[in-house]
Amino acid sequence: MLTLRGSRAPRRGSELNQLNIIPDGSILVRDGIVQEVGPTRRVENLGLARQAIEVSAVGRVVMPGFVDSHTHMLFPAPGAPSPGIEPGARALHGVTALRLRALARPYLESMARHGTTTAEVKTGSGADESAELKILRVAAELKQEPISLLATVLFRLRAGAGEDALPLEQRWVCDEFLPKVWRRHLARFADLAGEDESDIQGFAAQYFQSARRLGLGCKVHADSANPSEAVRVGVAHGAVGIDHLEHVTEGDAALLGRAESVATLLPAASFHAQGRFAPGRALIDAGVAVALATNFNPHHTPTFSMQTVVALACRHMDLTPAEAISAATINGAHALGHAAHVGSLELGKSADLVVLNVSDYRDLARHFGANLVHMTMKRGEVIYEQDVVAPRPVEDLRPAW
Ligand SMILES: [Zn+2]
Repeated sequence: MLTLRGSRAPRRGSELNQLNIIPDGSILVRDGIVQEVGPTRRVENLGLARQAIEVSAVGRVVMPGFVDSHTHMLFPAPGAPSPGIEPGARALHGVTALRLRALARPYLESMARHGTTTAEVKTGSGADESAELKILRVAAELKQEPISLLATVLFRLRAGAGEDALPLEQRWVCDEFLPKVWRRHLARFADLAGEDESDIQGFAAQYFQSARRLGLGCKVHADSANPSEAVRVGVAHGAVGIDHLEHVTEGDAALLGRAESVATLLPAASFHAQGRFAPGRALIDAGVAVALATNFNPHHTPTFSMQTVVALACRHMDLTPAEAISAATINGAHALGHAAHVGSLELGKSADLVVLNVSDYRDLARHFGANLVHMTMKRGEVIYEQDVVAPRPVEDLRPAW
């Protein structure tokens, strides 16, 4: 049993390698909350345990459910595979909220089957209020689904919009849209993406100040070829997550190593784009609190499996399996400001866990593309359990030749 018990702060340095394993462990759950975690013999002897329903995981790894802290599962909308905001926003106008919700549900189910119990979902359709609100409303409705969803407003800066002439849409997002989203409780975070470094510099302060005044957490897409300014701005404004970082410099890594922010790396995005992988090893060695997420979106990063992300991070970023697991669970929870509730198996936290069909967690790094999940539990309820493959009927077994 990998408990991931440890420091309350985002894990960094050697902490990332400490999974706090109990070789023969048990967990006692009541009303969805962890009551006890420890050696089986001790947990079995507790009074409460005698009345409990037993779920056996003998011979298998048990670990916290994956926390996928960076996804674009609802945007671009279906039918808009071309890059850029406009085609996606146009397609989104043609999709009803009901249809968008129906399309998202199988994604969430697939994520649950692959062991994800908490995920983030971003908007990102540009300065288009009805399209943005449609995504946020659908995300709010999806909160009834088995896995928890936390919504983020993603505002994309367009290149060439300088500091002096603050365009209308930038004023709109700060003065109108974010307050509206906050009043309706539709999002927890405000994320900023931009291609041009000088634009970020000019606008980020205003955007993040607006978000923070409302109590929204800040995030930044540091995904350009020169992400130094995005990193600096994110650190300066106490961003909870600074994401992508494929082209980060040594200086950026040193700055991130001294910051509270979690650096979320997205190896599946690099894999699909055939691009550069973020230097995960160097970032961890520089003391950065690293998280891993999928960047899942149906067009450009059609990977929703955090197991695949863990394997890619070990293979292409030189993380150890233990570091990758910490990054994909507890540090993902920190990147969503949610680590008091999920990300580790500890007293008082939500009983979100996965049971794997292996007896050694390091197999997650080797079984690329395979689903090792035997069972997924969310808040103490089994939301997925692997089923048998049906045998062939007897008459089918006669040779056909
Ligand atoms: Zn992204």
